[in-house]
Amino acid sequence: MRNFKEIEYNPISGWIKMSDQEKEKVFAFSKKYIDFMNEAKTEREITDLIISMAEEKGFVDFDNIIKNKGKVEKGMKIYSVISGKALILCVVGNNIEDGLRIIGSHLDSPRLDFKPMPLYEDGGFALAKTHYYGGIKKYQWVAIPLAMHGVVIKKDGTKINISVGEKDTDPVFTVSDLLPHLSQDQLKKEASAFIPGENLNVFLGSIPIQTDEDSKEINLIKKNILAFLFDEYGITERDFASAEIEIVPAFKAQEVGFDRGLIGAYAQDDRICAYTSLMAMFDMDGIPDKTCICYLSDKEEIGSVGITGARSNLFETFIYELSYAFTQDSNPLIAKRAMKASRMLSADVTAGFDPNYPEVSDKTNSSYIGRGISIEKYTGSRGKSGASDANPEFIAEFTQLLSESEICWQIGEMGKIDLGGGGTIAQYMADIGIEVLDCGAPVLSMHSPFEITSKIDLYSSFKAYKCFFENM
Ligand code: MN
Ligand code: MN
Repeated sequence: MRNFKEIEYNPISGWIKMSDQEKEKVFAFSKKYIDFMNEAKTEREITDLIISMAEEKGFVDFDNIIKNKGKVEKGMKIYSVISGKALILCVVGNNIEDGLRIIGSHLDSPRLDFKPMPLYEDGGFALAKTHYYGGIKKYQWVAIPLAMHGVVIKKDGTKINISVGEKDTDPVFTVSDLLPHLSQDQLKKEASAFIPGENLNVFLGSIPIQTDEDSKEINLIKKNILAFLFDEYGITERDFASAEIEIVPAFKAQEVGFDRGLIGAYAQDDRICAYTSLMAMFDMDGIPDKTCICYLSDKEEIGSVGITGARSNLFETFIYELSYAFTQDSNPLIAKRAMKASRMLSADVTAGFDPNYPEVSDKTNSSYIGRGISIEKYTGSRGKSGASDANPEFIAEFTQLLSESEICWQIGEMGKIDLGGGGTIAQYMADIGIEVLDCGAPVLSMHSPFEITSKIDLYSSFKAYKCFFENM
Protein backbone atom coordinates (compact mmCIF):
# COMPACT_ATOMS: atom_id res chain seq x y z
CA MET A 1 0.00 0.00 0.00
CA ARG A 2 1.19 3.49 -0.84
CA ASN A 3 1.19 5.98 1.99
CA PHE A 4 0.32 9.34 0.46
CA LYS A 5 1.26 11.08 3.68
CA GLU A 6 4.79 10.08 2.75
CA ILE A 7 4.59 10.61 -1.00
CA GLU A 8 2.65 13.84 -1.26
CA TYR A 9 3.88 17.15 0.10
CA ASN A 10 1.14 19.16 1.81
CA PRO A 11 2.45 21.92 4.04
CA ILE A 12 -0.07 23.04 6.64
CA SER A 13 -0.50 25.80 9.18
CA GLY A 14 2.00 25.61 12.00
CA TRP A 15 -0.81 26.25 14.50
CA ILE A 16 -2.49 22.92 13.77
CA LYS A 17 -2.04 20.36 16.56
CA MET A 18 0.19 22.73 18.51
CA SER A 19 0.19 22.04 22.26
CA ASP A 20 -0.95 24.77 24.64
CA GLN A 21 2.52 24.74 26.14
CA GLU A 22 4.17 25.37 22.77
CA LYS A 23 1.62 28.06 21.95
CA GLU A 24 2.54 29.82 25.16
CA LYS A 25 6.18 29.82 24.10
CA VAL A 26 5.24 31.29 20.71
CA PHE A 27 3.26 34.08 22.37
CA ALA A 28 5.94 34.83 24.97
CA PHE A 29 8.62 35.04 22.25
CA SER A 30 6.37 37.30 20.17
CA LYS A 31 5.85 39.66 23.07
CA LYS A 32 9.59 40.19 23.40
CA TYR A 33 9.86 40.76 19.65
CA ILE A 34 7.11 43.39 19.77
CA ASP A 35 8.92 45.15 22.62
CA PHE A 36 12.17 45.04 20.61
CA MET A 37 10.43 46.57 17.59
CA ASN A 38 9.05 49.39 19.74
CA GLU A 39 12.43 50.06 21.32
CA ALA A 40 14.28 51.17 18.18
CA LYS A 41 13.23 52.35 14.73
CA THR A 42 16.41 53.06 12.75
CA GLU A 43 19.47 51.01 11.88
CA ARG A 44 21.57 53.15 14.25
CA GLU A 45 19.15 52.74 17.15
CA ILE A 46 18.88 49.01 16.55
CA THR A 47 22.67 48.69 16.38
CA ASP A 48 23.01 50.45 19.75
CA LEU A 49 20.24 48.31 21.23
CA ILE A 50 21.84 45.09 19.99
CA ILE A 51 25.27 46.11 21.33
CA SER A 52 23.80 46.61 24.79
CA MET A 53 21.93 43.29 24.59
CA ALA A 54 25.10 41.51 23.41
CA GLU A 55 27.29 43.04 26.11
CA GLU A 56 24.82 41.82 28.70
CA LYS A 57 25.33 38.34 27.25
CA GLY A 58 29.11 38.61 27.58
CA PHE A 59 30.03 39.74 24.07
CA VAL A 60 33.12 41.97 23.87
CA ASP A 61 34.23 44.49 21.25
CA PHE A 62 36.46 42.68 18.76
CA ASP A 63 37.95 45.94 17.51
CA ASN A 64 39.50 46.49 20.95
CA ILE A 65 41.01 43.02 20.77
CA ILE A 66 42.46 43.78 17.33
CA LYS A 67 43.85 47.11 18.55
CA ASN A 68 45.58 45.40 21.47
CA LYS A 69 46.86 42.62 19.22
CA GLY A 70 44.88 40.17 21.34
CA LYS A 71 43.75 36.64 20.60
CA VAL A 72 40.35 35.05 20.41
CA GLU A 73 39.74 31.58 21.74
CA LYS A 74 37.11 28.90 21.58
CA GLY A 75 33.95 29.96 23.42
CA MET A 76 34.61 33.69 23.16
CA LYS A 77 31.76 35.98 22.17
CA ILE A 78 32.73 39.05 20.16
CA TYR A 79 31.11 41.80 18.13
CA SER A 80 32.31 44.35 15.61
CA VAL A 81 30.41 47.51 14.70
CA ILE A 82 30.45 49.07 11.23
CA SER A 83 29.91 52.87 11.30
CA GLY A 84 27.28 52.50 14.02
CA LYS A 85 24.78 51.12 11.50
CA ALA A 86 25.68 47.50 10.94
CA LEU A 87 27.36 44.84 13.03
CA ILE A 88 28.81 41.38 13.16
CA LEU A 89 28.41 39.14 16.21
CA CYS A 90 30.41 35.96 16.58
CA VAL A 91 30.62 33.00 18.94
CA VAL A 92 33.95 31.28 18.40
CA GLY A 93 33.73 27.51 18.00
CA ASN A 94 36.37 24.81 17.72
CA ASN A 95 38.15 26.29 14.73
CA ILE A 96 37.90 28.69 11.80
CA GLU A 97 39.27 26.69 8.92
CA ASP A 98 36.43 24.15 8.91
CA GLY A 99 34.09 26.95 7.98
CA LEU A 100 31.72 29.33 9.67
CA ARG A 101 27.96 29.17 10.18
CA ILE A 102 26.65 32.57 9.22
CA ILE A 103 23.18 34.09 9.33
CA GLY A 104 22.98 37.41 7.52
CA SER A 105 20.08 39.83 7.66
CA HIS A 106 19.67 43.59 7.30
CA LEU A 107 18.75 46.35 9.72
CA ASP A 108 17.74 49.10 7.28
CA SER A 109 14.15 49.61 6.17
CA PRO A 110 12.31 51.86 3.71
CA ARG A 111 11.63 55.36 5.02
CA LEU A 112 11.81 59.07 4.21
CA ASP A 113 15.24 60.66 4.73
CA PHE A 114 15.69 64.40 5.22
CA LYS A 115 17.35 66.10 2.27
CA PRO A 116 20.69 67.77 3.09
CA MET A 117 19.02 71.21 3.32
CA PRO A 118 15.52 70.22 4.41
CA LEU A 119 13.89 73.22 6.08
CA TYR A 120 11.64 75.74 4.35
CA GLU A 121 8.43 77.67 4.90
CA ASP A 122 5.36 77.78 2.68
CA GLY A 123 1.64 78.52 3.06
CA GLY A 124 1.79 79.06 6.81
CA PHE A 125 3.85 75.97 7.63
CA ALA A 126 7.44 75.04 8.31
CA LEU A 127 8.24 71.91 6.35
CA ALA A 128 11.11 69.52 5.72
CA LYS A 129 11.99 68.14 2.32
CA THR A 130 12.69 64.42 2.15
CA HIS A 131 14.18 61.95 -0.28
CA TYR A 132 12.66 58.50 0.11
CA TYR A 133 14.90 55.52 0.88
CA GLY A 134 14.20 52.07 -0.56
CA GLY A 135 11.23 50.82 -2.52
CA ILE A 136 8.18 52.57 -1.15
CA LYS A 137 4.69 53.14 -2.50
CA LYS A 138 4.68 56.88 -1.90
CA TYR A 139 0.94 57.12 -1.36
CA GLN A 140 1.28 54.97 1.79
CA TRP A 141 3.35 57.64 3.52
CA VAL A 142 0.87 60.52 3.45
CA ALA A 143 -1.81 61.32 6.05
CA ILE A 144 -0.36 59.03 8.73
CA PRO A 145 1.46 59.90 11.98
CA LEU A 146 5.22 59.94 11.49
CA ALA A 147 8.14 59.98 13.91
CA MET A 148 11.54 61.59 13.47
CA HIS A 149 14.71 59.71 14.36
CA GLY A 150 18.31 60.38 13.61
CA VAL A 151 21.61 62.01 14.32
CA VAL A 152 23.08 65.40 13.69
CA ILE A 153 26.87 65.71 13.75
CA LYS A 154 27.79 69.25 14.74
CA LYS A 155 30.81 71.17 13.43
CA ASP A 156 32.86 70.11 16.44
CA GLY A 157 31.98 66.45 15.91
CA THR A 158 29.43 66.24 18.73
CA LYS A 159 26.69 63.76 17.90
CA ILE A 160 23.13 64.80 18.73
CA ASN A 161 20.51 62.05 18.83
CA ILE A 162 16.96 62.95 17.91
CA SER A 163 13.88 60.80 18.55
CA VAL A 164 10.49 62.47 18.49
CA GLY A 165 7.08 60.89 18.01
CA GLU A 166 7.35 57.63 19.95
CA LYS A 167 6.40 58.62 23.49
CA ASP A 168 2.72 59.21 24.30
CA THR A 169 3.60 62.78 25.29
CA ASP A 170 5.52 63.48 22.04
CA PRO A 171 4.08 65.32 19.07
CA VAL A 172 4.15 63.47 15.73
CA PHE A 173 4.74 64.70 12.17
CA THR A 174 2.87 64.09 8.95
CA VAL A 175 2.82 64.56 5.19
CA SER A 176 -0.40 65.98 3.78
CA ASP A 177 -2.56 64.44 1.05
CA LEU A 178 -5.08 66.09 -1.22
CA LEU A 179 -8.76 65.98 -0.23
CA PRO A 180 -10.89 63.67 -2.46
CA HIS A 181 -13.02 66.68 -3.46
CA LEU A 182 -10.11 68.22 -5.37
CA SER A 183 -8.42 65.03 -6.50
CA GLN A 184 -10.00 64.50 -9.91
CA ASP A 185 -6.75 65.11 -11.73
CA GLN A 186 -4.60 63.38 -9.11
CA LEU A 187 -6.69 60.21 -9.20
CA LYS A 188 -6.41 59.94 -12.98
CA LYS A 189 -2.65 59.60 -12.67
CA GLU A 190 -0.81 56.31 -12.34
CA ALA A 191 -0.50 55.25 -8.69
CA SER A 192 3.30 55.46 -9.00
CA ALA A 193 3.00 59.11 -10.00
CA PHE A 194 0.11 60.58 -8.08
CA ILE A 195 2.22 61.39 -5.06
CA PRO A 196 5.41 62.84 -6.55
CA GLY A 197 8.57 62.33 -4.49
CA GLU A 198 8.95 66.08 -4.21
CA ASN A 199 5.57 66.23 -2.42
CA LEU A 200 6.78 64.10 0.49
CA ASN A 201 7.41 67.18 2.61
CA VAL A 202 6.99 66.74 6.34
CA PHE A 203 4.98 69.26 8.36
CA LEU A 204 7.12 70.50 11.25
CA GLY A 205 5.17 73.45 12.63
CA SER A 206 2.77 76.29 12.07
CA ILE A 207 3.35 78.98 14.73
CA PRO A 208 5.40 82.06 13.81
CA ILE A 209 8.10 83.27 16.14
CA GLN A 210 7.29 86.37 18.20
CA THR A 211 9.52 89.19 17.04
CA ASP A 212 9.77 92.92 17.77
CA GLU A 213 11.24 93.54 14.36
CA ASP A 214 9.39 94.56 11.21
CA SER A 215 6.28 92.39 10.82
CA LYS A 216 7.07 91.86 7.13
CA GLU A 217 10.06 89.75 8.11
CA ILE A 218 9.82 86.46 6.24
CA ASN A 219 10.03 82.82 7.34
CA LEU A 220 8.82 83.47 10.87
CA ILE A 221 7.47 79.92 11.21
CA LYS A 222 10.68 78.35 9.93
CA LYS A 223 12.59 80.65 12.28
CA ASN A 224 10.46 79.42 15.16
CA ILE A 225 11.39 75.83 14.34
CA LEU A 226 15.08 76.80 14.04
CA ALA A 227 14.86 78.51 17.42
CA PHE A 228 13.28 75.40 18.91
CA LEU A 229 15.97 73.13 17.41
CA PHE A 230 18.71 75.43 18.68
CA ASP A 231 17.25 75.63 22.20
CA GLU A 232 16.43 71.93 22.43
CA TYR A 233 19.40 70.34 20.66
CA GLY A 234 21.90 73.15 20.09
CA ILE A 235 21.80 72.60 16.34
CA THR A 236 21.76 75.18 13.56
CA GLU A 237 20.40 74.97 10.02
CA ARG A 238 23.91 74.42 8.71
CA ASP A 239 24.24 71.31 10.88
CA PHE A 240 21.65 69.52 8.70
CA ALA A 241 24.43 69.24 6.12
CA SER A 242 25.96 66.58 8.37
CA ALA A 243 22.89 64.77 9.59
CA GLU A 244 20.96 61.57 9.02
CA ILE A 245 17.34 62.24 9.92
CA GLU A 246 14.86 59.50 9.11
CA ILE A 247 11.09 59.87 9.05
CA VAL A 248 9.40 56.61 9.97
CA PRO A 249 5.85 55.59 10.88
CA ALA A 250 4.92 56.53 14.44
CA PHE A 251 2.86 53.33 14.79
CA LYS A 252 3.61 50.91 17.57
CA ALA A 253 4.20 47.24 16.82
CA GLN A 254 1.00 45.42 17.80
CA GLU A 255 -0.82 42.12 17.80
CA VAL A 256 -3.32 41.85 14.95
CA GLY A 257 -6.62 39.95 14.85
CA PHE A 258 -9.06 38.67 17.50
CA ASP A 259 -6.89 35.58 18.00
CA ARG A 260 -3.70 37.72 18.18
CA GLY A 261 -1.90 35.40 15.79
CA LEU A 262 -0.39 38.15 13.66
CA ILE A 263 2.03 40.99 14.33
CA GLY A 264 1.79 44.36 12.64
CA ALA A 265 4.82 46.64 12.71
CA TYR A 266 6.98 48.94 10.66
CA ALA A 267 10.32 47.51 9.47
CA GLN A 268 9.67 43.81 9.96
CA ASP A 269 11.61 43.58 6.68
CA ASP A 270 14.14 42.65 7.84
CA ARG A 271 14.21 43.06 11.59
CA ILE A 272 12.14 39.92 12.05
CA CYS A 273 15.16 38.03 10.68
CA ALA A 274 17.65 40.20 12.55
CA TYR A 275 15.84 39.57 15.83
CA THR A 276 15.31 35.84 15.35
CA SER A 277 18.91 35.20 14.25
CA LEU A 278 20.17 37.27 17.17
CA MET A 279 18.01 35.34 19.64
CA ALA A 280 19.18 32.09 18.03
CA MET A 281 22.78 33.12 18.74
CA PHE A 282 22.05 34.25 22.31
CA ASP A 283 20.09 31.06 23.00
CA MET A 284 22.65 28.53 21.72
CA ASP A 285 23.38 25.63 24.04
CA GLY A 286 27.02 25.68 25.08
CA ILE A 287 29.90 26.34 22.71
CA PRO A 288 29.04 25.52 19.11
CA ASP A 289 31.21 23.16 17.12
CA LYS A 290 31.50 25.59 14.20
CA THR A 291 32.20 29.28 14.70
CA CYS A 292 28.86 31.10 14.41
CA ILE A 293 28.28 34.57 13.02
CA CYS A 294 25.29 36.88 13.02
CA TYR A 295 25.81 39.47 10.29
CA LEU A 296 23.42 42.43 10.55
CA SER A 297 23.99 44.52 7.46
CA ASP A 298 22.78 47.92 6.27
CA LYS A 299 21.73 49.43 2.93
CA GLU A 300 20.11 46.23 1.64
CA GLU A 301 17.08 48.21 0.55
CA ILE A 302 19.18 50.28 -1.86
CA GLY A 303 21.36 47.48 -3.20
CA SER A 304 23.68 46.62 -0.27
CA VAL A 305 25.97 49.44 -1.38
CA GLY A 306 28.17 51.73 0.70
CA ILE A 307 30.59 51.05 3.53
CA THR A 308 27.88 49.53 5.74
CA GLY A 309 26.29 47.42 2.97
CA ALA A 310 26.95 43.74 2.33
CA ARG A 311 28.90 44.52 -0.87
CA SER A 312 31.56 46.30 1.15
CA ASN A 313 34.53 44.03 1.85
CA LEU A 314 34.39 44.87 5.55
CA PHE A 315 32.61 41.58 6.22
CA GLU A 316 35.43 39.74 4.49
CA THR A 317 37.97 41.79 6.44
CA PHE A 318 36.26 40.65 9.64
CA ILE A 319 36.84 37.03 8.66
CA TYR A 320 40.53 37.75 7.96
CA GLU A 321 40.88 39.48 11.32
CA LEU A 322 39.03 36.65 13.07
CA SER A 323 41.21 34.08 11.38
CA TYR A 324 44.37 35.91 12.46
CA ALA A 325 43.15 36.53 16.02
CA PHE A 326 42.31 32.85 16.36
CA THR A 327 45.34 31.24 14.68
CA GLN A 328 47.96 34.03 15.04
CA ASP A 329 48.86 33.09 11.48
CA SER A 330 48.44 35.84 8.89
CA ASN A 331 48.39 33.45 5.93
CA PRO A 332 45.33 34.72 3.99
CA LEU A 333 44.67 31.21 2.78
CA ILE A 334 43.28 30.29 6.19
CA ALA A 335 40.51 32.88 5.89
CA LYS A 336 39.92 31.98 2.25
CA ARG A 337 39.52 28.33 3.21
CA ALA A 338 37.21 29.31 6.04
CA MET A 339 34.97 31.19 3.61
CA LYS A 340 35.01 28.33 1.12
CA ALA A 341 33.94 25.89 3.82
CA SER A 342 31.31 28.26 5.24
CA ARG A 343 27.56 28.02 5.04
CA MET A 344 25.21 30.88 5.33
CA LEU A 345 21.52 31.55 5.64
CA SER A 346 20.62 34.80 3.96
CA ALA A 347 17.84 35.67 6.36
CA ASP A 348 15.38 37.95 4.67
CA VAL A 349 11.63 38.15 4.45
CA THR A 350 9.61 37.04 1.46
CA ALA A 351 6.15 37.93 0.19
CA GLY A 352 3.34 35.96 1.83
CA PHE A 353 0.29 34.92 -0.17
CA ASP A 354 -2.24 37.75 0.06
CA PRO A 355 -5.91 36.75 -0.42
CA ASN A 356 -6.64 40.31 -1.53
CA TYR A 357 -4.16 39.99 -4.39
CA PRO A 358 -4.07 36.32 -5.40
CA GLU A 359 -3.35 37.29 -9.01
CA VAL A 360 0.31 38.09 -8.31
CA SER A 361 1.11 34.67 -6.83
CA ASP A 362 1.58 31.21 -8.20
CA LYS A 363 -0.49 29.49 -5.51
CA THR A 364 1.51 26.29 -5.61
CA ASN A 365 4.81 28.15 -5.16
CA SER A 366 3.78 30.83 -2.72
CA SER A 367 4.84 31.23 0.85
CA TYR A 368 1.86 31.32 3.18
CA ILE A 369 1.56 33.30 6.39
CA GLY A 370 1.49 30.84 9.28
CA ARG A 371 3.19 27.88 7.62
CA GLY A 372 6.60 28.51 9.10
CA ILE A 373 9.94 29.79 7.88
CA SER A 374 10.05 29.97 4.10
CA ILE A 375 12.99 28.56 2.16
CA GLU A 376 13.70 30.34 -1.09
CA LYS A 377 15.95 28.50 -3.47
CA TYR A 378 16.34 31.66 -5.48
CA THR A 379 15.16 35.25 -5.53
CA GLY A 380 15.76 37.69 -8.39
CA SER A 381 13.60 38.68 -11.33
CA ARG A 382 13.25 38.17 -15.08
CA GLY A 383 14.65 34.65 -15.24
CA LYS A 384 16.25 34.62 -11.78
CA SER A 385 18.50 37.62 -12.50
CA GLY A 386 20.27 38.72 -9.35
CA ALA A 387 19.58 35.43 -7.58
CA SER A 388 22.02 33.24 -5.73
CA ASP A 389 20.39 29.98 -6.76
CA ALA A 390 21.08 27.70 -3.78
CA ASN A 391 22.43 24.18 -4.18
CA PRO A 392 19.83 21.45 -3.60
CA GLU A 393 22.39 19.53 -1.55
CA PHE A 394 22.35 22.37 1.00
CA ILE A 395 18.54 22.64 0.89
CA ALA A 396 18.14 18.90 1.44
CA GLU A 397 20.38 18.92 4.48
CA PHE A 398 18.80 22.02 6.00
CA THR A 399 15.15 21.06 5.41
CA GLN A 400 15.78 17.54 6.71
CA LEU A 401 17.24 19.04 9.86
CA LEU A 402 14.14 21.23 10.22
CA SER A 403 11.78 18.29 9.70
CA GLU A 404 13.65 16.13 12.21
CA SER A 405 13.51 18.98 14.72
CA GLU A 406 9.77 19.44 14.07
CA ILE A 407 10.22 23.04 12.97
CA CYS A 408 7.57 24.07 10.48
CA TRP A 409 8.92 25.24 7.16
CA GLN A 410 7.71 25.80 3.63
CA ILE A 411 9.30 26.56 0.30
CA GLY A 412 8.23 29.13 -2.23
CA GLU A 413 9.18 31.90 -4.56
CA MET A 414 8.17 35.52 -4.54
CA GLY A 415 5.30 36.18 -6.92
CA LYS A 416 4.51 35.10 -10.43
CA ILE A 417 7.19 35.09 -13.09
CA ASP A 418 7.99 38.49 -14.66
CA LEU A 419 5.74 40.48 -12.31
CA GLY A 420 8.71 41.87 -10.46
CA GLY A 421 11.02 40.33 -7.93
CA GLY A 422 13.69 41.25 -5.49
CA GLY A 423 17.14 40.46 -4.22
CA THR A 424 18.84 39.87 -0.89
CA ILE A 425 22.43 39.94 0.33
CA ALA A 426 22.84 36.27 -0.74
CA GLN A 427 24.64 36.96 -4.02
CA TYR A 428 27.25 39.18 -2.38
CA MET A 429 28.10 36.50 0.17
CA ALA A 430 28.37 33.96 -2.63
CA ASP A 431 30.84 36.33 -4.30
CA ILE A 432 33.33 35.69 -1.51
CA GLY A 433 32.94 31.94 -1.73
CA ILE A 434 30.31 31.29 0.91
CA GLU A 435 27.57 28.75 0.19
CA VAL A 436 24.30 30.53 0.85
CA LEU A 437 20.56 29.85 1.05
CA ASP A 438 17.76 32.41 1.33
CA CYS A 439 15.12 31.89 3.98
CA GLY A 440 12.93 33.97 6.24
CA ALA A 441 9.42 34.76 7.38
CA PRO A 442 6.70 35.63 4.85
CA VAL A 443 5.28 39.15 5.16
CA LEU A 444 2.15 40.91 3.94
CA SER A 445 2.21 44.59 2.96
CA MET A 446 6.01 44.46 2.69
CA HIS A 447 7.73 47.90 2.65
CA SER A 448 4.54 49.55 3.88
CA PRO A 449 4.36 51.50 7.14
CA PHE A 450 2.60 48.51 8.77
CA GLU A 451 3.92 45.13 7.70
CA ILE A 452 2.18 41.93 8.79
CA THR A 453 3.77 38.67 9.91
CA SER A 454 2.63 35.58 11.81
CA LYS A 455 3.80 34.71 15.29
CA ILE A 456 4.30 31.14 14.19
CA ASP A 457 6.62 32.20 11.35
CA LEU A 458 8.54 34.42 13.77
CA TYR A 459 9.00 31.57 16.21
CA SER A 460 9.82 28.93 13.62
CA SER A 461 12.45 31.27 12.13
CA PHE A 462 14.06 31.55 15.55
CA LYS A 463 14.05 27.78 15.99
CA ALA A 464 15.35 27.17 12.47
CA TYR A 465 18.23 29.63 12.90
CA LYS A 466 19.13 28.12 16.28
CA CYS A 467 19.09 24.68 14.74
CA PHE A 468 21.37 25.88 11.92
CA PHE A 469 23.91 27.34 14.36
CA GLU A 470 23.90 24.26 16.57
CA ASN A 471 23.70 21.43 14.07
CA MET A 472 24.73 22.32 10.53
MN1 MN B 1 14.68 42.53 3.17
MN1 MN C 1 13.02 44.94 1.54
